[in-house]
Amino acid sequence: MITLSTVTRRYTDDVAIGPVDLDIPAGGITALVGPNGAGKSTLLTMIGRLMGMDEGQIEVAGLDVSTTPSKDLAKIVSILRQENHFVARLTVRQLVGFGRFPYSQGRLTRADEEVISRSIDFLDLGELESRYLDELSGGQRQRAYVAMVLAQDTEYVLLDEPMNNLDMQHSVQMMKHLREAAVQLGRTIVIVLHDINFASHYADRICALKHGKVVEFGTPEEIMVPEILSDIFNTPIDVVEGPRGRLACFY
Ligand code: ADP
Ligand code: MG
Repeated sequence: MITLSTVTRRYTDDVAIGPVDLDIPAGGITALVGPNGAGKSTLLTMIGRLMGMDEGQIEVAGLDVSTTPSKDLAKIVSILRQENHFVARLTVRQLVGFGRFPYSQGRLTRADEEVISRSIDFLDLGELESRYLDELSGGQRQRAYVAMVLAQDTEYVLLDEPMNNLDMQHSVQMMKHLREAAVQLGRTIVIVLHDINFASHYADRICALKHGKVVEFGTPEEIMVPEILSDIFNTPIDVVEGPRGRLACFY
């Protein structure tokens, strides 16, 4: 479980995230949604201990993220940031190998190599594994980053808009893979999603942020309601019963 208690981050006098009180249960997929600037990335990077907070406390699996040593947390929580600065002269396989760093400290064992291969296959990157990152499309590179995060093999996985740049096939494939990881491997996945319909279909819970605060937290059935969605996203949104669950329509 991830627990946030009065978590606050003040960027400037007029921009503050929080205070946020939130319990994200272990297991399954929790989608973080909300308009641009709502505070999704800030919250996720604080949970992933890449950014400090001004007030409050975050615990992941009972560990306080601000006092637990990084090397211990790295075996429990992994995070994919929204923006990644990539090193061009790195192959896909080398990048994915970085996911094993908390275990291998740079000396990869056979077991590490197996995890890396599995992660590469999982993201459909087998044919690209020897390519350098600057020889990939944006979407392929994005998949390589997700493979790196999954290779870290942590119980908690935080992903900030991992479908950026992905085409429909690979978006669907990634959500199916993440679902599998949640169900079969018991992972707890927290994912910032722009596409509310992906959240509706694949997430177990939807957490909506607006102006730095949590405004809704519930199941897709509870959140996929026209008034609630229109309010979260500041634009009229209809909800229709699609062939596989509720769909938001906006034009
Ligand atoms: P989201 O991911 O939901 O789009 P962010 O968490 O990135 O939102 O940003 C939340 C708010 O904090 C926005 O208003 C953004 O402009 C502001 N913000 C983010 N990073 C900084 C920063 N380094 N300095 C000042 N303001 C920031
Ligand atoms: Mg963001």
